Amino acid sequence: MTVLAVDVGGTTIKGAVADPDGRILHTLTAPTRADDDPVKAVRSLCVQLRDDAVRLGAVPVAIGVVTPGLVDDESGVVRYAANLRFRDVPLRALIGADLELPVAVGHDARAAGVAEAVARGLDDFLLLPLGTGIAAAIVVRGVPLAGATFAAGEVGHMPVYPGGEACSCGQQGCLEVYASAGGLARRYARLSGSSGVDSQAIAALVGTDPVARSVWDDATRALGTALASLTLTLDPARIVLGGGLADAGDLFFTPVRDALRAALAWRSPPPVIRSVFGARAALVGAAVMARREAGLPVPDGWGAPAA
Ligand SMILES: [Zn+2]
Repeated sequence: MTVLAVDVGGTTIKGAVADPDGRILHTLTAPTRADDDPVKAVRSLCVQLRDDAVRLGAVPVAIGVVTPGLVDDESGVVRYAANLRFRDVPLRALIGADLELPVAVGHDARAAGVAEAVARGLDDFLLLPLGTGIAAAIVVRGVPLAGATFAAGEVGHMPVYPGGEACSCGQQGCLEVYASAGGLARRYARLSGSSGVDSQAIAALVGTDPVARSVWDDATRALGTALASLTLTLDPARIVLGGGLADAGDLFFTPVRDALRAALAWRSPPPVIRSVFGARAALVGAAVMARREAGLPVPDGWGAPAA
């Protein structure tokens, strides 16, 4: 009783075959823009993944596919995904016809929240993967919130510095301008004149390079401010941070926790902890969704990386 999981990103599509205990038996990666047709690229990866699973002697019973953008998980239609140039793509119907399997379609950040919820046995928390951009999973009583127009969790575009630097979305002073891995690298390049320095390298320079120190402090302060607003709105039991910046450990978490505490006067902040997953959270979430689609149980701890 294996399931197939697919995480469609702007650059690559990742596929996996997951066994009943949540172990990944096989993975497959393909460029999203092969033949300049991302829908075709997703469909052919799904077929290849199913064929690989059968060759391994596994019997896939369902598939979960997650994408960025505005995803209607009930109808299985991706309404809009700018990076993929998807508009009203009926992914569930297309893949269901290709594979003749039950298909769950979902949003990548919400799927990452599903994976984190199952892996840790958490019910009420916020998950913010700090990658190229920042989108949050808002998990309430075990279910990630989709919103009225499937656009909940776009916290990367919360204004944190009014009148601040321009964001690619058209607003100014957005959180992800300052606190995403991509934004940090762009600001460092502009202020230092040295391009090609990524967030990991900037973290290593914080002790010796004043520009690195300054963009790092802006990032952690911006995030602390945004987390204060989110805490006051949602009262989460935990805030879970993932992605490249979280890999910096205490250098990152200590100032973020301090900024969050400083912004809240009358209530205590929730614990801010690190995601148990690396870049695989959304893929594991897609596997969880596939199991649920097939009516299979998903016990706490399913899919969590071995300690
Ligand atoms: Zn923005």
